[in-house]
Amino acid sequence: MKRKIEKIALLTSGGDAPGMNAAIRAVVRAAAYYEKEIYGIYRGYEGLIEGDIERFGPRKVSNIINRGGTILKSARSKEFRTPEGRKKAYENLKKYEIDALVVIGGDGSFRGMKVFSDEYDFPVMGIPATIDNDINGTDYSIGFDTASNTAMEAIDKIRDTASSHDRLFFIEVMGRDAGFLALHSGIAGGAEDILIPEEDRGINELLESLRRSKRSGKTSSIVVVAEGDKTGKNVFELARYVENNLKEYEVRVVIIGHIQRGGSPTTFDRVLASRLGVKAVEALLDGENKKVTGMRKNEIIVYPLEEATTKTKKINQELIRIIDILTV
Ligand code: ADP
Repeated sequence: MKRKIEKIALLTSGGDAPGMNAAIRAVVRAAAYYEKEIYGIYRGYEGLIEGDIERFGPRKVSNIINRGGTILKSARSKEFRTPEGRKKAYENLKKYEIDALVVIGGDGSFRGMKVFSDEYDFPVMGIPATIDNDINGTDYSIGFDTASNTAMEAIDKIRDTASSHDRLFFIEVMGRDAGFLALHSGIAGGAEDILIPEEDRGINELLESLRRSKRSGKTSSIVVVAEGDKTGKNVFELARYVENNLKEYEVRVVIIGHIQRGGSPTTFDRVLASRLGVKAVEALLDGENKKVTGMRKNEIIVYPLEEATTKTKKINQELIRIIDILTV
């Protein structure tokens, strides 16, 4: 039997991503459109446990589609990892007579949502938002496009100084476990090599590729390194090793850091967030539960939460192949 959904609550959780606000707006407005009550929960699962909950109307989300970050704020909650914490969360949802929960976040937030919905048989719907783009089952997550553009713009600027001084730059981008951001920003920024956690090509291959590029007449080079890459202990050690072994290069390191999380979302992220937000509400009203909204081949889809939480998203091998071709 289809559960009746009259009141929906919404939170943002885990690492923030540009476009989360556009998704909040879409969920709030879609709920209003279908004449359902919508509640904003502040500070992710932490706020749910503490009862930091507020009734939202469609005007509450005016003028946020263009803003980075999340007006609901985000948090990492240790307490939600405990059965006691989740019990408090459930009691607060009951107190407000909430029928379903929408979680905008990354894979960690989805794992928490899965544990919670298994425990309490509570209707949930996930909206993928992470600059890492590592949620299995969807081609894109909210925030990835904006972060890729931010990283690419930083690489472009470094390229100007790299070529003026004939230097080799190692540029670290975010991605502790996933190399999607490094791959996209690196290809777009014309990187000589891109080092990601999923592919351990080894230090010798990197040295060889840098020697080759020197021989082919290149005077400066950019290597993009994902935070979680295992080629060196960290990007500084890696750079030192290369400098010691390739005397012809003067090496510098740049860590782009948290600017990758901020900024006004791109058109792509705003449209994606709007589509996923509307779909999340519609799917819940259609009786879907324990699902995630996503995009495959430009179609908005709804797929099992399990698929997003238990499988690792694979790197597109075509991207790896073209790096080699384009750095000839
Ligand atoms: P992201 O969603 O960006 O991957 P995290 O991995 O930090 O971020 O997860 C966000 C929050 O989700 C955690 O702080 C925790 O409260 C909750 N969470 C993650 N995994 C679990 C789990 N296995 N059980 C319960 N809660 C979890």
